[in-house]
Amino acid sequence: MIFYNPSGAPELACDECGCRWFDRMANACYECGTAVTAESLAEYRRALDAFQANRTGPASPPVAGRPET
Ligand SMILES: [Zn+2]
Repeated sequence: MIFYNPSGAPELACDECGCRWFDRMANACYECGTAVTAESLAEYRRALDAFQANRTGPASPPVAGRPET
């Protein structure tokens, strides 16, 4: 399941208990151990991409690895 935090960013949450703490190494919920499904991950990815596309604008300077001086 996907939540959106107050700033509009998507957050992946457990389908079973709704918590948002995941073990990213195991792709499983910390609370109940439910594995994150590929569908959920794909959905989260899409939501994240959409969010970042919306954020990218004149207001946010690009974070490029530009050498100083
Ligand atoms: Zn859970």
